[in-house]
Amino acid sequence: MDLPGYVHLYSGKVRDLYAPVGPSGEPDPDRILLVASDRISAYDHILGTPIPDKGRILTQLSLWWFERLADLVPNHVLSTEVPAAVAGRALLVRRLDMLPVECVARAYLTGGGLEEYAATGRVSGVPLPAGLVDGSRLPEPVFTPSTKAPQGEHDQPIPYAAVVDLVGPDRAAAARDLTVAILRRGNEIAAERGILLADTKVEFGIGSGDELVLADEVLTPDSSRFWPADQWVPGRVQPSFDKQYVRDWLTHESGWSKSSGEAPPPLPESVVEQTRARYLEAYERLTGRTLD
Ligand code: ATP
Ligand code: MG
Repeated sequence: MDLPGYVHLYSGKVRDLYAPVGPSGEPDPDRILLVASDRISAYDHILGTPIPDKGRILTQLSLWWFERLADLVPNHVLSTEVPAAVAGRALLVRRLDMLPVECVARAYLTGGGLEEYAATGRVSGVPLPAGLVDGSRLPEPVFTPSTKAPQGEHDQPIPYAAVVDLVGPDRAAAARDLTVAILRRGNEIAAERGILLADTKVEFGIGSGDELVLADEVLTPDSSRFWPADQWVPGRVQPSFDKQYVRDWLTHESGWSKSSGEAPPPLPESVVEQTRARYLEAYERLTGRTLD
């Protein structure tokens, strides 16, 4: 997209980054316009079919959470005043040097964490009690970091010691403790609204005082598993408000195979509508607001 007054820097799977252009025509080195699109990714593919309003939902929900986490961790938000063309789905943020790690914490066991537990009895090297099943609540949230893979490649789980090697012991400990604190706080707040946050991924950058700053997005249905608390039954796949619905359609119903190397098929209208409804319900339940 062409945004007058901004120069495009980078596009991730979901977000487009722009730098404001100063009076001298130079891109501002300290600020980024972070624009969330309606693109949805699954299994590291950007799907060909957008989900209407997803960009606004993710941006507004992240903002809501940033405020509720502000006493735990500073965040990158500078302003919500953005060009009309991206109203509601963009933020002006501090441009940070990002840690080269995806900071994941798990409060409940499922997905990749469950696979590792089934094979080793541990998650990210942390020993867990025997007998846990899909959807079990963990005794304590566990930090399970992964690499930040280049575009098109899969993030790989790494042990905590690898994070120490990448960023040093002090930053590794701070990132771990903050990630777990964010998930704990998120679950305290979400519990009042009937939602369990099974796990989450956050990204940190380094602020001017060398402190960790929460960047990107936080506690959204793209970055986290959202489960309706009243339907939580350990021992089976949990119903969810996140993109698990799209993943399940792709792997069980579309005829597409994850391992084929081919691009996933377009989403049918009904899947788009159901996915949009899930994202919207997560937003409305948590915030008690409607989108506009
Ligand atoms: P990738 O960027 O690796 O493809 P992704 O597809 O999940 O991952 P998006 O969420 O689409 O990424 O794009 C956001 C990008 O912007 C990420 O690379 C993220 O690290 C980066 N980012 C987010 N906030 C900031 C910030 N304040 N300063 C610098 N970079 C940021
Ligand atoms: Mg991202």
